[in-house]
Amino acid sequence: MEDIDLNNGVPMPRLGFGVWQVADDEAEKAVTTALECGYRSIDTARLYQNEEGVGRALRASGIPREELFVTTKLWNDQQGYDEALRAFDGSTRRLGLETVDLFLIHWPSPKQNRYVETWRALEKLYADGRVRAIGVSNFTVDTMERLLAETGVVPALNQIELHPQLAQRELREFHARHGIATEAWSPLGQGRGLLDLPVLAEIGGRYGKTAAQVVLRWHLQLGNVVIPKSVTPSRIRENIEVFDFELSAEDMAAIDALDAGRRLGPDPATFG
Ligand code: NAD
Repeated sequence: MEDIDLNNGVPMPRLGFGVWQVADDEAEKAVTTALECGYRSIDTARLYQNEEGVGRALRASGIPREELFVTTKLWNDQQGYDEALRAFDGSTRRLGLETVDLFLIHWPSPKQNRYVETWRALEKLYADGRVRAIGVSNFTVDTMERLLAETGVVPALNQIELHPQLAQRELREFHARHGIATEAWSPLGQGRGLLDLPVLAEIGGRYGKTAAQVVLRWHLQLGNVVIPKSVTPSRIRENIEVFDFELSAEDMAAIDALDAGRRLGPDPATFG
């Protein structure tokens, strides 16, 4: 597995396993399969209600803790300084871990206007060595600029909705200017429609790869961290077999051309 170095030098696998909308027991099974296939990075959240199942799979795998990279996130009702510290305690307890590798604010929730104080709690957890890196999710240029202006630690990463039909060029450029990694959620466009586009099958056919593998490879070549989700063992394996081919510049451009500003999730400027 290839890593990227986060802005504090902590290495993070460029491809991880997402478990949104996977029930606790099923998450345990899916994470077990993913670890067997070679995934080492797992993306969960308090919202997903499967931190316990993820934790059971991690422990049962016998893989040394230092070889695993675990991300979790605090939910919108856990914003605020004290609330965020408590959120972290709850997540680590459910995961059965003392530390997590990456802790994220799930949504900026600008209406609540508490993300700056929430971030200060994450800075405290980081200073105390309870988390190896801290970051955000669904932050816009506006909310990110305010965080950078008013707080001390630059987020290691922003996890945002990103797939060929929502390529997020402006945010990716902003991240690059500030040394913030870009992590793509719903990297496969949730499988809805995107993977059926003929151009992806046509490109894949020339490399002996599926549409999903072509899309994941496009992300990797842009420099994105990706966390595809599946509960189907054959797809879990398929989604990690993307490090043995390289898309040409022409094929990258053909996938870039699919950008339609098509959001699948809520608008982070108003959500929460
Ligand atoms: P995804 O883009 O990873 O798509 C997953 C779906 O695509 C699967 O349910 C399946 O239907 C299909 N699929 C997966 N592999 C396939 C394959 N090889 N061939 C054909 N179809 C395939 O969508 P996602 O689950 O929304 O996103 C991935 C992860 O991102 C989540 O599990 C979660 O960890 C994270 N996420 C974060 C946020 C956030 O707000 N931070 C929001 C959504 C998702």
